[in-house]
Amino acid sequence: MKSFRKELIIKTDDRREYINITRDVQEAIRESEIKEGFVLVNAMHITASVFINDDESGLHHDFEVWLEKLAPEKPYNMYRHNGYEDNADAHLKRQIMGREVVVAITEGRLDFGPWEQIFYGEYDGKRAKRVLIKIIGE
Ligand code: ZN
Repeated sequence: MKSFRKELIIKTDDRREYINITRDVQEAIRESEIKEGFVLVNAMHITASVFINDDESGLHHDFEVWLEKLAPEKPYNMYRHNGYEDNADAHLKRQIMGREVVVAITEGRLDFGPWEQIFYGEYDGKRAKRVLIKIIGE
């Protein structure tokens, strides 16, 4: 069995953003030369997510509205976590949207269902953050 590890560095311009990282993951699979196996992709920060869904801007807007209802950014003082920080909402949003995904690799490709794409979800951006890609197989 072979294994391969790679980190992506992502810095968003906005506090909240969704970035399609499917091509980066497929590129890592190509670099690994692994044809059959699994790829794990996870955010390495507790205010960001990695998840799979549709690459459709209306849906991403709907995520934003939905998450702001569940865990609004403001007022900052509604959260106990916000003392020196102002990112309690980002921790909660990440918890809802998830930490990681695992995808099967078949014949060197991501073995997706229809419309599946891998996204990095940022909830407390404007600084460099890391995403881990770990691939095992042969
Ligand atoms: Zn925090």
